[in-house]
Amino acid sequence: ASNGMRKYKIASIPADGIGPEVVNATIDVLKSMQQILKTFEMEFTELDWGTERYKKTGEYMPKDGLDILRKFDAGLFGAVGAPDVPDHISLWNLLLAIRGPMQLYANVRPVKSLPNVPSPLRGVKEGDIDWVLVRENSEGEYCGQGGRTHRGQPWEAATELSIFTRVGIERIMRFAFDVARSRPRKLLTVVTKSNAMRNGMVLWDEVAAEVARDYPDVTCDKMLVDAMTVRMVVNPKSLDTIVGTNLHMDIMSDLAAALGGSIGIAASSNLDPTRKNPSLFEPVHGSAFDITGKGIANPVATLWCASEMLNWLGEKEAAQTLLRAVEETCSKGICTPDLGGKSSTKQVAGAVASHIKDLT
Ligand code: ATP
Ligand code: MG
Repeated sequence: ASNGMRKYKIASIPADGIGPEVVNATIDVLKSMQQILKTFEMEFTELDWGTERYKKTGEYMPKDGLDILRKFDAGLFGAVGAPDVPDHISLWNLLLAIRGPMQLYANVRPVKSLPNVPSPLRGVKEGDIDWVLVRENSEGEYCGQGGRTHRGQPWEAATELSIFTRVGIERIMRFAFDVARSRPRKLLTVVTKSNAMRNGMVLWDEVAAEVARDYPDVTCDKMLVDAMTVRMVVNPKSLDTIVGTNLHMDIMSDLAAALGGSIGIAASSNLDPTRKNPSLFEPVHGSAFDITGKGIANPVATLWCASEMLNWLGEKEAAQTLLRAVEETCSKGICTPDLGGKSSTKQVAGAVASHIKDLT
């Protein structure tokens, strides 16, 4: 714009269940934030992709959905999934249908203990858990290859292939090393299972060792995934940035979210580090139909996503301010019932917006 304001086009995809509640609360915060900071402008366009659309039209998103998305700088997702549609249908028709072709190969999940959100781990204080989990998001165990033979017979067999490529491993590894390098401790833990899986996991180990040579300033250690689950619980302070495969990190990031205090605060970014395509930001939690429409969904996970989105767009100060405002809000005890509070979604979002004002 002529006044030097940086402009972004954001697609919002609230989708199902509590998705619209948390996404709209977050957009309200972003809108008041741009009025307070006056450094950037965001134009939001809501897309009606989701289960309701699927029930009406048979499609989660339009056929030219990817072309539509490519017109935006980033996407903010709510949650997808409904009680009467099998999870694999909603997942494969929306999230996975976007992630693959868009090459959103890096899934990043920040996990940090927030004030007044106690970790279920004994003795863990605020700040003890401060992790970034990097999940390979495009291949490996979830590549969808395999098949079944002899259906219904006792000798029925099924294969589920894991396909790992040198290109795929190297690009996620470089991304993870860059994340580790950008953080104060410069520590990366590479998770594999190369004692039991002698092909793909060994390739992971080899590529990790090769890439590590380009990052002499980053401390790199290797863990087997089983030992890693123990370390996360027993010695959480010893970890910083963590990288692993699609399956391993799927499981570990749920564990991490729980150790961080609550699924209601966990955020996730689906990034195309080449920046050819817009990246997507979504809370880790699902559509939570049990609390849908009650106005009590925790917006913190989606607000955290918004902070990650600002950071990815280059608005680093705004990203930090937003996260600090969330922390301030938590430390005042303003939170939704899932965190033991009495506030509504809107009250939490309102408090965050007013803390943004205080911080600037
Ligand atoms: P999906 O099938 O899409 O995964 P879900 O109904 O299984 O959705 P989850 O998100 O997996 O829901 O969450 C499990 C439970 O955690 C929910 O039933 C809900 O009570 C709670 N929960 C999840 N997210 C939130 C949130 N943002 N705020 C408050 N409670 C939440
Ligand atoms: Mg679920």
